[in-house]
Amino acid sequence: MRVTVNPSGWRPSAPSNEQGEAQTTTGNRALMLEEPLIFEIDGGETTGVDFADMPQRATKLGGLERSRPIALPGLSEPEAVRHYTRLSRQNYAIDLGLFPLGSCTMKHNPRLNEKVARLPGFADVHPLQPQETVQGALQVINELAFWLLNLTGMHGVAMSPKAGAHGELCGLLCIRAALEARGDKREVVLVPESAHGTNPATAAFAGYRVENIPANAAGRVDLEALKARLGPDVAAVMITNPNTCGLFEPDMKAISDAVHAAGGFVYCDGANFNAIVGKVRPGDLGIDAMHINLHKTFSTPHGGGGPGSGPVVLSEALAPYGPIPYAAKYRDGSFKMVEEEHAGEEHPDGFGRMVAFHGQMGMFTRALAYILSHGADGLKQVAEDAVLNANYVLRSLEGVLDAPFAKSGPCMHEAIFSDRGFEGGVSTIDLAKALIDEGFHPMTMYFPLVVHGAMLVEPTETESKASLDQFIASVRSIAERAKAGDQSLKAAPIYAPRRRLDETLAARKPILTWRAPEPAQAAE
Ligand SMILES: *Cc1c(COP(=O)(O)O)cnc(C)c1O
Repeated sequence: MRVTVNPSGWRPSAPSNEQGEAQTTTGNRALMLEEPLIFEIDGGETTGVDFADMPQRATKLGGLERSRPIALPGLSEPEAVRHYTRLSRQNYAIDLGLFPLGSCTMKHNPRLNEKVARLPGFADVHPLQPQETVQGALQVINELAFWLLNLTGMHGVAMSPKAGAHGELCGLLCIRAALEARGDKREVVLVPESAHGTNPATAAFAGYRVENIPANAAGRVDLEALKARLGPDVAAVMITNPNTCGLFEPDMKAISDAVHAAGGFVYCDGANFNAIVGKVRPGDLGIDAMHINLHKTFSTPHGGGGPGSGPVVLSEALAPYGPIPYAAKYRDGSFKMVEEEHAGEEHPDGFGRMVAFHGQMGMFTRALAYILSHGADGLKQVAEDAVLNANYVLRSLEGVLDAPFAKSGPCMHEAIFSDRGFEGGVSTIDLAKALIDEGFHPMTMYFPLVVHGAMLVEPTETESKASLDQFIASVRSIAERAKAGDQSLKAAPIYAPRRRLDETLAARKPILTWRAPEPAQAAE
């Protein structure tokens, strides 16, 4: 369908859409406003600012100056504000409702964190300021590091990695540096089949060959199969605990002992730390490196792949190989970032640098505010409530959805279901899309791969019983329809600003540039 745009930005639309449903003149649905691309509402010369004419000066660009107009859309200030505000209303957010994405730990971002992070002394620091002027900021990094070490029972921590996946790379680079230091050329990393995709990707990126560790029928690592595979070529195993099926790996200590006895290292994917924070210390389980997603366990915002933060805690064996810079505290109470110029004396074996500066200061401030406002007892309560909420979801839905591991006992902080029993070609994606009509962001789908049509639900501790009950009632009603083979589910979502999209086409052939319609076509 070709759209002609009138100067005010309205799309004159037909009284009914392609599905034959009634449409409004504007395309708006009540107060959910339809919004074209910013280029389609381009007002030409319109602008929100009033610049003085450019003084005539001889150009110094030697013929490289732009010969055509830049073609940025022209909008007045209110038009620009409305455009972005309308788009923002089409987003779903943790501040709007339950966000059940399993493995992502989408918990409420406390406003206290935001208040603290906005204090000018924190918000306005610059990474190139002289260190004596940012002693408080360095103290925050050091204090957060202290908490992370205490909560995990580990020896050292690299604060600079900027996401969980980045932390994985940091951990594997430490492992590689430790192996190289002893002249050991191991080349295999073992990863369970249920692992998050970042685990094998990280191992491959760090130059290792990835092999799978099988799972047993209870959804956990098969200890005997793992032991049988260990040998002088295995650099590390990467294990998620609690794992991505929402289950605790009770053999973790035995796994670590076996890997160490075979000369390898144990990397733990700590993305699910929320389920055990304050209850279990990974250091006691023999783990050598583990990333912590501050944007999961410690409530800092997840931002479109943006301001994540993935500190990595390290065992005594790996700590000497961690990256620079790091915030060190000296006996006189002062703090210093140990950078290249001091690394020679203070940290000679470190593998180098991960990022330009010191990590995500704004996230450190928020995470420390969260930790201090909860205290050690409050963090333990977080884990207990997160696990309680997930088990409430599991037990409330296991009668209507297949829950493959429900018989293995309670889950940790997320509950997993399969599409077994759905009829008439209805599948997980149809249920997920129908949840959008109910006003919920869908759960994680088709992950982990070991469960057919997987639906991974992580409510987190910040949801009330009332909100869980509403979610459960919605899933129950949609699941009943899926089991009855209700074909209308395949059209869901019907109330969203956009209906069912061709996501495969969008991912494989994304259209990332906008081209002005040809004048001849626009006249059609
Ligand atoms: C979120 C997650 C990751 C990756 O973390 P990012 O911060 O998104 O890079 C890795 N493993 C698991 C199990 C996760 O849930």
